[in-house]
Amino acid sequence: MSATTLECISSVRHWNDSLFSFTTTRAPGLRFRNGQFVMVGLPTEDRPLMRAYSIASPGHAEELEFFSIKVQDGALTSRLQHVREGDEVLVGRKAVGTLVLDDLRPGRTVYLLATGTGLAPFMSIVRDPEVYERFDRVVLVHGVRYVSELAYADELQSRLPSDAYLGEAVSRQLTYYPTCTREPFRVTGRIPDLIRSGKLACDLGLPPMSPESDRVMICGNPAALVDIRAELDARGFTVSAGTGEAGDYVYERAFVER
Ligand SMILES: Cc1cc2nc3c(=O)[nH]c(=O)nc-3n(C[C@H](O)[C@H](O)[C@H](O)COP(=O)(O)OP(=O)(O)OC[C@H]3O[C@@H](n4cnc5c(N)ncnc54)[C@H](O)[C@@H]3O)c2cc1C
Repeated sequence: MSATTLECISSVRHWNDSLFSFTTTRAPGLRFRNGQFVMVGLPTEDRPLMRAYSIASPGHAEELEFFSIKVQDGALTSRLQHVREGDEVLVGRKAVGTLVLDDLRPGRTVYLLATGTGLAPFMSIVRDPEVYERFDRVVLVHGVRYVSELAYADELQSRLPSDAYLGEAVSRQLTYYPTCTREPFRVTGRIPDLIRSGKLACDLGLPPMSPESDRVMICGNPAALVDIRAELDARGFTVSAGTGEAGDYVYERAFVER
C-alpha cells in the first residue's frame, strides 16, 4: 500500500504574497491527534516531492486544512502555491508529532505560542472542544513580522466565538493575542521578550507564567523556540520528553530550520 493518498483540493485562500491556506478531502482512514503533522506533496516525474505539514483542521473535521508558506524558490511551495480547487495533492497516511495535549500535565491556563506558520497546529487545537475541557484559559499568541501575516485573525476574533458548537467555550476561555515585530501594531515585540518582561501575562490580567498553574505549547521558527524555551526553563518548567511522559510544556521538535 502506498504511503500517501491522492486528495482533491476543495478551497484555497491566499492571505498575502507569502502565505496561503488550502483544504483537501480526507482519506477515511487518516486519524490524527490535534497538533500533529503529515507529509503533503505533489507528484513529479521522478518520486513524489513531499514536505511535513501541520494539520490546521481539528480531528473531527471532514476535510483537512493546511496553512502554508510560499517560498518562491522552494522545491515544493514554488509549485504548491499555484494549486486551485479541483487539483490533486498527495497526503501521507500517517500523522505524527510531539505537539499534543496528552503530553501536558493538567493545569489552569495553556499558552499556545506560535510564530509564522507555526500557528497551523494551534488552529487545529483551538477548533476542537478538548482544549476547553482540559484548561480554564487558552491563550493563543501569534508572533509575525507584518500585520498582513496575521492569518486566521478573523476566524479567531469573529467566527469561532459565534460558532454554534464551540462559541460559548471560545468566548469564555480563548484569548487571541497577536504581536508584530516589524511594523506598528497594538502589540509589538518577540514572544520571548513579551514573556520575559511580564507584558504578556500583565496584558491578559494573569499572574506571571509559572509551572504551578500554566502549561505551554510552542511551534515556529527555531530562534524563537530556543529563546522561549530558555524563558520557561528559567522559570522551572519541565519539557515533555515527547515519549508519552507528560511535562509542563511541549514543542514541535521537527519544525523547519530557517
Ligand atoms: C514538523 C513540521 C511541520 C511543518 N509544518 C508546516 C506548516 O504547517 N506550514 C508550512 O508552511 N510549513 C511547514 N513546515 C515546513 C515545510 O515542511 C516546508 O519546509 C515548506 O512547505 C517549504 O517547502 P519548500 O520545498 O517549498 O521549501 P524548502 O526547501 O523546504 O525550504 C526553503 C526555505 O524556506 C524556509 N522555510 C520553509 N518552510 C518555512 C515556513 N513554514 N516558514 C518560514 N520559512 C520556511 C526554509 O528554512 C528554507 O530556508 C513544517 C516542517 C516540519 C518539519
